[in-house]
Formats: sequence, structure tokens, C-alpha cells
Amino acid sequence: MIKENLDRIEERIAKACARAGRSRDSVTLICVTKTKPLEMLQEAYDAGQRHFGENKVQEICRKRPDLPQDIQWHMIGHLQRNKVRQLIGNTVMIHSVDSLRLAQTISEEAQKAGVVMPILIEVNVADEDSKFGVAYDGAESLIKAVSVLKGIHVEGLMTIAPYTDNPETNRRYFAMLRELAVDISQKCIDNVSMNVLSMGMTGDFEVAIEEGATIVRVGTGIFGERIYT
Ligand SMILES: *Cc1c(COP(=O)(O)O)cnc(C)c1O
Repeated sequence: MIKENLDRIEERIAKACARAGRSRDSVTLICVTKTKPLEMLQEAYDAGQRHFGENKVQEICRKRPDLPQDIQWHMIGHLQRNKVRQLIGNTVMIHSVDSLRLAQTISEEAQKAGVVMPILIEVNVADEDSKFGVAYDGAESLIKAVSVLKGIHVEGLMTIAPYTDNPETNRRYFAMLRELAVDISQKCIDNVSMNVLSMGMTGDFEVAIEEGATIVRVGTGIFGERIYT
């Protein structure tokens, strides 16, 4: 079942890339595995997937030892500073940095571990009260402040668009995130690149790809509805 779902998602990604005149290689699929059991993750792995996303540090740390070690784990959820130490070494990228304080903690812990942690700045593009992320207008100054920290490297931007039945309504938010990335890259800030745009989920990943996503994060479309207990 998971293999079939992945085949369908893959086909839709390829078509969206073609529509946008982009190569399929320019988009990475992250399988969002939160709440899902190890067997399902293994199935996705066996189907060729290597990028998995979780929104809780504990869940990454619990699952990771029991699965193949070449899986790239992405931290995509809201991150508390007291969990950062545990996370370093268990993730290839933190997508959800939205404050200087959090960035400072990541910087300190990464330096202690002797690594440089790739991060994305999460932007609340649609300005929803329910969402984390720095305000659109505050993103540039946050990035400038973060850019001087050692032990981290800003790779780009991430957003979670509003939940919607009509993906077209999110197109403008994806376009806004891309425009912000272009603006910031033109400022040539040291230690900041804007090569990664993490945007688009099960409901809207095709529109996100058309608007420039380089990472899409898909959960339900691969693993089915999540049950929270
Ligand atoms: C859960 C989650 C997703 C995946 O959502 P689906 O609608 O199930 O594809 C993507 N990004 C983030 C940050 C998430 O928390």
C-alpha cells in the first residue's frame, strides 16, 4: 500500500516538475513519518525513500536506532531549546528555526559537538495565529542576526501553509516565500544561502513545486491519516 502511494506521489511530483519546466532532481521528497510505526517507515525505505521527517525530538531518537543508518532525518516541528542537545547528531537539517534564542542554542550545542548544523528559517507567511514561524516582515532581520552565529548554516526557508481543500488558495503564500528567498539572497549575507525552499504537504505539494519548492513534506498521502492517542 505504501509503495503504491509513493508511486502515485512520485508521478505527481514528476508531473508538477514538468509543468514548471524543472528537473525532477530539483525536488526532494521528505516522507513525514510522525506517529507512524517502524514497519511503515521500513516499507517506505524499501521502496527507495531516504528522507524522513518528524516533528518531535523524542520520536526521531526513538525510531532512528532501529532503522537503516543511511536515512536522513529532518526535524520539521516546533523545537524547544531544552531538546536541542539530544537532536544534534540525530538530524541532517532543522526546518523550524523561528527565533534568535533557539538559533543561539543550536549554535552552542553544534559547536560543542563539533558540527555545523544546516537550518531553515520557518516563516509564518499567511500570518496565522495558530502557527509558529517568524513573521514575514521579521524574517530578514532574524536571518541577519542568525548569520553571525557559529555552528549553524542557514540554507533557506520553510513554511507551513494554511490547511485548505483548494491548493490554489496557497499558491500566493508559496510565491511569497520564494520572493522572500530571492530578496534575501540578493543581500549576499555571509553564511546564508537561499537554495532550499521547504514548502508543500499532501494537500498542496504540486502547487508548491510549481512555485519553486525544493523540498516537499508529505505524510498523509503516503502513510494515511494519522491517529493521535
Ligand atoms: C505533519 C506535517 C507535514 C505532513 O502533513 P501531511 O498533510 O500529512 O502531508 C508536513 N510538514 C510539517 C511541518 C508537518 O508537521
